[in-house]
Amino acid sequence: MTTPPAIVGKQLSRSFTTGKTEQTVLHAVSLSVLPGELTLIIGPSGSGKSTLLSVLSGLLTPDSGTVHALGIELNRLSRTELDQFRLENCGFVFQGFNLFASLTALENVLLALKYGPKVDPATATARAREALDEVGLGARMHLRPTELSGGEKQRVAIARALVKRPRLLFADEPTSALDSQNGQIVIDILHHAAQTQGTTVLGVSHDHRLIKHADRVVTLEDGRVVMDQRARHLMETT
Ligand code: ADP
Ligand code: MG
Repeated sequence: MTTPPAIVGKQLSRSFTTGKTEQTVLHAVSLSVLPGELTLIIGPSGSGKSTLLSVLSGLLTPDSGTVHALGIELNRLSRTELDQFRLENCGFVFQGFNLFASLTALENVLLALKYGPKVDPATATARAREALDEVGLGARMHLRPTELSGGEKQRVAIARALVKRPRLLFADEPTSALDSQNGQIVIDILHHAAQTQGTTVLGVSHDHRLIKHADRVVTLEDGRVVMDQRARHLMETT
């Protein structure tokens, strides 16, 4: 028996209108993501990678086509249901860290537990501490973003994304603003999430170290999938 995909995008198209010009950014893209895999989307700047990630995660509505995530057709959900679905099942990591400046690392992570299924305060704190420990920031959890390096901020953002043990993790260029050492730490965390926790990770990245850990690499060009390679083929050709 084959496992059903975690995410199925079918014939996804999306255009943006700026002023009088309409630009089609995704041209009927179909992409299925298998559960527990680390799938990466690569391709030139402006090829539609972030747009595709946003559409597949329900952050952006396609003009046409459908997205099923964990068996649920996202297009059919109301705004509230979609928010609920994402709170329960999805974690997001972006290039900018999007942390609250006035809150400590711990408070930023705790915020993720405030919405969705209720957790009592003691359990929430314990889980947030554990998530920060996992990214190596246990000792720095009471610091605010201004007191943390870029790499540490991204690790807080990842702890916040993973604290609810989401089944789906979306990461848009998670290492591109980081130095090499911090980039490696972030890669190890993402790899670990897919490898040992069964998290389905869909990312956009050009980082060769992350590509090396990917189960599959999909190349986008001008809003179309031009290549779709499994890891063993990548090994053979690189
Ligand atoms: P990538 O992530 O591969 O660099 P994007 O998906 O961010 O590409 O963008 C693809 C194209 O769509 C770019 O030309 C970009 O300017 C355009 N685009 C993306 N988002 C918007 C938006 N919200 N409004 C207008 N144009 C957009
Ligand atoms: Mg992008």
